[in-house]
Amino acid sequence: LADPVAKVTLVGGTRHPSIPLPKDLFAPGHRNSSGLDLSDVATLKAAVAAVKQPVRVGSGTASPIQNAASGGEGLVQAAVARAHGAFPAWSATPVDDRAACLERLADLLEENRDRLMAICVQEAFKTIPDAIGEVREAADFCRYYAGEARARLQPVELPGPTGERNMLHIEGRGVWATIAPWNFPLAIFLGQTVAALVAGNTVVAKPAPQTPEIARFAVELAHRAGVPADALVLVTGGPDIGAALTADVRVMGVAFTGSTATAKRIARTLVENDDRPIVPLIAETGGINAMIVDSTALPEQVVADVLTSSFRSAGQRCSALRLLLVQEDVADTVIHMLQGAMDTLRLGDPADPATDVGPVIDRASYDKLMAYRAQVTDRTVKTLEAPAEGLFVPPTLVRLDRIEDLDQEWFGPILHVATWEAGKIGETIARVNAKGYGLTMGLHSRIARAAEVAEAAAAVGNLYINRSMIGAVVGSQPFGGEGLSGTGPKAGGPHYLYRFCAERAVSIDT
Ligand code: GLU
Repeated sequence: LADPVAKVTLVGGTRHPSIPLPKDLFAPGHRNSSGLDLSDVATLKAAVAAVKQPVRVGSGTASPIQNAASGGEGLVQAAVARAHGAFPAWSATPVDDRAACLERLADLLEENRDRLMAICVQEAFKTIPDAIGEVREAADFCRYYAGEARARLQPVELPGPTGERNMLHIEGRGVWATIAPWNFPLAIFLGQTVAALVAGNTVVAKPAPQTPEIARFAVELAHRAGVPADALVLVTGGPDIGAALTADVRVMGVAFTGSTATAKRIARTLVENDDRPIVPLIAETGGINAMIVDSTALPEQVVADVLTSSFRSAGQRCSALRLLLVQEDVADTVIHMLQGAMDTLRLGDPADPATDVGPVIDRASYDKLMAYRAQVTDRTVKTLEAPAEGLFVPPTLVRLDRIEDLDQEWFGPILHVATWEAGKIGETIARVNAKGYGLTMGLHSRIARAAEVAEAAAAVGNLYINRSMIGAVVGSQPFGGEGLSGTGPKAGGPHYLYRFCAERAVSIDT
């Protein structure tokens, strides 16, 4: 506890060593359930004041950034035309120079951390720990992909057993559309975008309609970092804008994070037009993520990790725990402890650093979650009081008779719990796999064999053993799923950039 930095490193998503920790912001003493110490009152107050400072909304007219919300399809086509025109020069820019732009962008993100955090809190209702994690993950993506590009995207000479000179060039494909979610409006928005850029593509980037301002500022910083204005063009708006963008035949690839249904729609759009080239889709979608707990697990650790996995970020992470599966022998104890632990969660103003759970993103999401919550009252074993004002969905625990009773993702702080019989861990994993999603899974057990079984059988992109299930760290825990949860390669992993590239082999008879 003596070292505030050591405490901060406990939080998922903020552990990456490449980013200096916000030493100035946190000191021991005050603690919320996310594990941050938050007691250097003077500096903390300054940060909170920064976060509460109203952020100027709207961009200058001279900006290359286009708001397509009102202009519709015409503006989308104009944006694609600009990115298309910028492709030859940007793709011919040496990879080292493109990587340097990303590194400068990482520096700018850190320099502008307070303003970025402020927009995250105001526009996406991120809590302060989440807003810090967001900025740091965005900077991590920039530095990681810059390093990967330098290491992996240079032309390589391949063996020439026939006496020929064989070269492999790894290059940009053209214009990419990057379509981002509101739940990581900076980190995922930029992660997808800078990966496409550093690989030599130009980009038309579309943020979620709920979070255009953070994207606007991020694009402004990218331009300041040296990305040519037309190599990265922002379009904002709703699904119609996304549809127009992916339908444009000049778009040579799509990186998308959002719902499974939208990913499938995009996949259909990309093959609709017979004259269109065959182009890649990288999709990261949802999951019905389960955590399996056996009778050897440490209940205190289980409960702490469940709180983090289910309720941090108000449950609005694709990775979040939705279905807790406890071995029946210990279920009463674990559920009892969990009910008590839920009482420690603080709901409230996301700009208050002690807040654990802020409001959900918008009215539509609130209405959907609250309607579901009302539908399951007879199976609810614990729920909290919500503040009177605001879109707060109270963390809620719902008991299920069977694993199969949960058949869709509820994107909020609603956790389901069911039990399984001793000796049936393999069968339990198979029943979870059968749902068809494959994003995250957790296991809490001190039996090495149980970990081996899970490692072999869990059909997920990210398996977490004896820890929480959120906060994948760029470069160490590549993130993304399979099946209904999307198609890789994984963000923040060593194979991601290749998918954005075309390969060209050149053989010269010397
Ligand atoms: N990468 C995030 C995590 O590990 C989740 C991303 C998402 O929600 O799309 O928690």
